[in-house]
Amino acid sequence: MIKQKLIKKFIVRPGSKVDLKKFDTDWTGTEEAEKLGRDTIKKRAQRILEKNREELAQVQELIYASNTQSVLLIFQAMDAAGKDGTIRHVMSGVDPQGCQVFSFKKPSAEELDHNFLWRYMKALPERGRIGIFNRSYYEDVLVVKVHPEWLDQKRLNGKSGKDFWRERYEDINNFERHLTRNGTLILKFFLHLSKGEQKRRFLDRLTTPEKYWKVSPSDMSERKFWGEYQGAFESALSATSTKWAPWYVIPADRKYVARALVADIVVGAVNGLDLKYPTVSPDAMKALVAARKELEGNEREPKGGKRKRRQGTKSRLNLQHVTKSLVVPVPVAE
Ligand code: AMP
Ligand code: MG
Repeated sequence: MIKQKLIKKFIVRPGSKVDLKKFDTDWTGTEEAEKLGRDTIKKRAQRILEKNREELAQVQELIYASNTQSVLLIFQAMDAAGKDGTIRHVMSGVDPQGCQVFSFKKPSAEELDHNFLWRYMKALPERGRIGIFNRSYYEDVLVVKVHPEWLDQKRLNGKSGKDFWRERYEDINNFERHLTRNGTLILKFFLHLSKGEQKRRFLDRLTTPEKYWKVSPSDMSERKFWGEYQGAFESALSATSTKWAPWYVIPADRKYVARALVADIVVGAVNGLDLKYPTVSPDAMKALVAARKELEGNEREPKGGKRKRRQGTKSRLNLQHVTKSLVVPVPVAE
């Protein structure tokens, strides 16, 4: 695990005014990191990612089994900041049944006809699941703020621009508050990329045939609005980092740093939920014991005679433990 002292550096303190220039895009270039050296950091980051990936697979099973909470991870960034790769790497060990990823593009006419949170509400993870938003309702205070001409003028309702965005931030905060009160853990990641690194990644995409597909015609035109986007991010992060749904500004110029940090923050936060495997009442346990006895004793063995019990099967339902404690794990089907 990464030290909490270091993780704290990346959290946007609720109520603070964000100046993105004060957040690193390349953590390996900072003074404290330089002491370690890039190679050491890379190896450490890979180890941390690996360890957290395994742990995330375990905690995800616990989220699924306990079925009381859901987790919502939100990723926002400039193009080519590595959202897709981070999601793929961090979630690679997780059971696909327990997680869902939604990528949000330009809204359809139907979506635009509803309130701006509508399409995201429909994609929220139910209890027991991890939901990932690759872009989210934050686009409605980012790209739309940079291009207010895309906003249907009817929606302004005669409000001034400033009030309109303030109300959207307020709606987002209230929405997230509502979700957390109802059992959703929300973590929000802004992958903070430098303009220089974006140029390098775009050029790599433009000179590698296997990466041509990643280039979108809008990439170059949106890059021209770099300053406006940074401003929109600063306002959104300042207004919507809350105790219940904090923003993390993740240095994204080195992919291995970004992935290790995100994985560590997710695992740390999910562990903090203090989830438990479901318990079985004494009556239900009696029924389980009876079912097991029936299977073992009364049912005829299949043709070919008795098969040896597979090693380890017995330990799945430890009857001694059952009698001692009412809080026992549910036996898992083989
Ligand atoms: P990508 O994620 O690179 O495939 O691009 C998706 C595009 O959809 C980006 O240019 C986003 O800015 C855009 N987009 C996503 N959500 C919205 C939204 N609510 N309003 C307008 N554009 C959006
Ligand atoms: Mg894109």
